[in-house]
Amino acid sequence: MPVAYAARVRIGLLGGTFDPIHVGHLVAAVNARAALGLDRVLMVVANEPWQKVGERPVTPAEDRLAVVRAAVAGTTGVEASAIEVERGGVSYTADTVEELRGRHAGAELFLVVGADVVAGLDTWERVDAVRAAVTLVVVNRPGSRPVDLGPSGPVATWRAVAIEIPALEISSTDLRERAAGGRPLDYLVPDAAVRVIRERGLYAAWR
Ligand code: ATP
Ligand code: MG
Repeated sequence: MPVAYAARVRIGLLGGTFDPIHVGHLVAAVNARAALGLDRVLMVVANEPWQKVGERPVTPAEDRLAVVRAAVAGTTGVEASAIEVERGGVSYTADTVEELRGRHAGAELFLVVGADVVAGLDTWERVDAVRAAVTLVVVNRPGSRPVDLGPSGPVATWRAVAIEIPALEISSTDLRERAAGGRPLDYLVPDAAVRVIRERGLYAAWR
């Protein structure tokens, strides 16, 4: 009789500053989960995003995490992850991947990134360790050219797949500008997350 092996748990990681989280992130998460049959997708909130610190004020991590928690509450298979906030300090995906491999031995890890992130992958801290541990999942993003997954493309050395998602021309940068100008975030950010933004008085000018 053939031996039945339990299928490996498939875990997606979608990391970001989420300042704030928006439907673009969530559409990416649920579609990656569906397309790849992932058991869970973790929205990993960066504590200190090394790419962004010094460039602009970043909203406190606890606030960004609370908004992400509200945004995903009730969405099956999508969770907020505090792993980087709890670790503290500068957030490197390499550390997160290593920690998740410890916590979920035998799990298969999928790192979901928008097409805009691909060009910078080579600058990531200990990128070789990340590359060895994950399958890269590239989602299309308006404003970024489709990523060539072939042998002469930028992710030729990665195990990589592409997922096509509805193009949503929305970014946290745009949302922060909207908020500063007093324009609404509704429908670009889930209702429950909008409520937390209001309660905490984040993105100040917007009420
Ligand atoms: P910012 O403008 O502050 O950089 P952002 O909207 O790009 O914010 P991030 O937190 O930087 O959000 O992004 C986290 C991840 O989500 C990245 O991999 C990014 O490419 C992806 N992403 C963000 N917005 C979209 C979108 N509209 N469609 C697809 N992917 C997206
Ligand atoms: Mg970004």
